[in-house]
Amino acid sequence: MTEVDWSAGAAYIDGEFMPLKDAKLGITEWGYRRSDVTYDVVGVYYGAFFRLDDHINRFRTSMTKLRMNPKESDDEIKSVLAELVRRTGLREAYVAMDCVRSRPPRGVPLHPINGRSYLICHVMPWVWVFTPEQQERGVHAMVASPQRIAPESLDPTIKNFHWGDLTRGNFEAHDEGAETCVLLDRDGNVTEGPGFNVFAVIDGRVITPKHGALQGITRKTVIELCDEFGIRCEVRDISRNEFEAADEIFFSTTAGGIMPVSRLAKRILGNDRPGPISAQLRAAFWEKRKDGWHATPVSYAS
Ligand code: PLP
Repeated sequence: MTEVDWSAGAAYIDGEFMPLKDAKLGITEWGYRRSDVTYDVVGVYYGAFFRLDDHINRFRTSMTKLRMNPKESDDEIKSVLAELVRRTGLREAYVAMDCVRSRPPRGVPLHPINGRSYLICHVMPWVWVFTPEQQERGVHAMVASPQRIAPESLDPTIKNFHWGDLTRGNFEAHDEGAETCVLLDRDGNVTEGPGFNVFAVIDGRVITPKHGALQGITRKTVIELCDEFGIRCEVRDISRNEFEAADEIFFSTTAGGIMPVSRLAKRILGNDRPGPISAQLRAAFWEKRKDGWHATPVSYAS
């Protein structure tokens, strides 16, 4: 028998482990056809998970809110993730956990209560939302015209794939020569972007939206870092005008960390490079990660 090469990625579907290339989802599943799915992504860097319990807790909360209850306990999900990373041997990995609802079986009412939910996890080599080069010179962003889906329609604290607005915004950004977008809510306040939380630095204070966004684990980390450095951090609404006039802007996400912005549409921030507070937070984030901050080391021995 030929040896399986796990290094390109590993997956787990409802009890079974397999190489990533063999992981397939049935096309009639509601997780796919109705986006009836929630997920979370935890990073492995320097051979360790970052804030694993925070991600598992958020994932469990998302599943509960969607009335999903896969057979695995939180500890079992953690063991699955650790086993997947171990199989790949990757020291830097993108680690995803999804819970999808199946299509109800034939003969029972076509209602989600009759669909069972189950766990799908996968691990692949680390992914950057913005490359290290983009982060060094600052990301080019813009405020795009689609309005972020209202929190009354879809609770943004449930991590979800309802990305129609974000994808539209991203195409608009591309057409305008920007690399990504930030969306506003119906009151004109900043929410988030495709895969990241948003921060503005105004008069030395770091500000991030209170409403309309995922409660990012990296966002939580930024708030902690500010506290450590004695930087005032405010969680409150940010209007478009305030945002567009900010001294600095940066984004945060698992697959990227703290990512400075150097352009917002036609406006060049600072000297077209990351601002000092964004750069300080980004450097501290990775230094502390290297030192094992909030880390759960992966056991790679078989
Ligand atoms: N907002 C959205 C819409 C996201 O998809 C993500 C991450 O994928 C984030 C924010 C950042 O969250 P975290 O820092 O937990 O990765």
